[in-house]
Amino acid sequence: MFQELEGRHALITGAGAGIGAAISLQLAQTGCRLTLCGRSQGTLQAQAEALREQVPDLAVLIAPMDVADEQAVQAAVQQAQSRFGPVNILVNNAGQASSQPFAKTDAALWQKMLNVNLTGTYHCIQAVLPGMLDAAKAGTPGRIVNIASTAGLKGYAYVSAYVAAKHGVVGLTKALALELARKGVTVNAICPGYTETDIVREAVQNIVGKTGKSEAEARQALAASNPQQRLVQPHEVAQSVLWLCAAGSDAINGQTMAIDGGELAG
Ligand code: NAP
Repeated sequence: MFQELEGRHALITGAGAGIGAAISLQLAQTGCRLTLCGRSQGTLQAQAEALREQVPDLAVLIAPMDVADEQAVQAAVQQAQSRFGPVNILVNNAGQASSQPFAKTDAALWQKMLNVNLTGTYHCIQAVLPGMLDAAKAGTPGRIVNIASTAGLKGYAYVSAYVAAKHGVVGLTKALALELARKGVTVNAICPGYTETDIVREAVQNIVGKTGKSEAEARQALAASNPQQRLVQPHEVAQSVLWLCAAGSDAINGQTMAIDGGELAG
């Protein structure tokens, strides 16, 4: 399965941990050539080594960069393209979720959430798109998958800046999907609910600190928003990314796919 992805160049941001690490593994197992991005070189190096243990003949490059820094993104993408050619699959996964009541959401926090989650996505698409379009014209389809969030489709209290940024990612996804529809590139957003990664571990510590709840109670409070009463697992999000990248998904464009156990159905 997914043999058609062999040799494609996939660039994943936030690839060293959590959902991004799970996506890198899924794509590595299809024979894609991978560029792993994130801020920490050490984390990316460790992830590349972990992937090579599972996929010994993997072609993998690490290209550290901060997605909020346009020059750094351009430089990393140039490095990636000179190693593996145009990026065929871009997974915009890097993100941060800081929590504060709106009254304490100062301009710095607001801007940081927009910069990392929304403008970072814009920077990465701008950098890879010319090459992706050329490759698509020559017959290799392009895929842009934005990891948004259920927070891109509904509101949550105490994370207004994050919610605004992720709604922006969903809007960008839809607009760009229309613009690229006849150019061999699809653009979709995956919207996970609470997923078991460092973001949720930090949210649990935050709840413990602010409410006096135990860790188990805090986890349960987050899991309770999922009708399946559990946290989503990173590999479940990664599976949906892989599916969107496959050949059979050519007609899926401009969609938001919730991976949330049914949370948004309620
Ligand atoms: P995570 O474990 O904290 O991983 C986030 C990744 O993003 C890290 O690899 C981090 O690497 C990278 N990153 C953060 N800021 C960056 C920046 N400025 N530039 C480049 N890379 C950056 O979180 P996760 O849960 O896997 O999150 C992945 C994505 O899923 C995010 O977009 C998040 O909003 C979304 N999401 C998560 C959940 C959830 O419940 N976990 C739910 C819905 C959506 P460095 O620190 O090395 O840069």
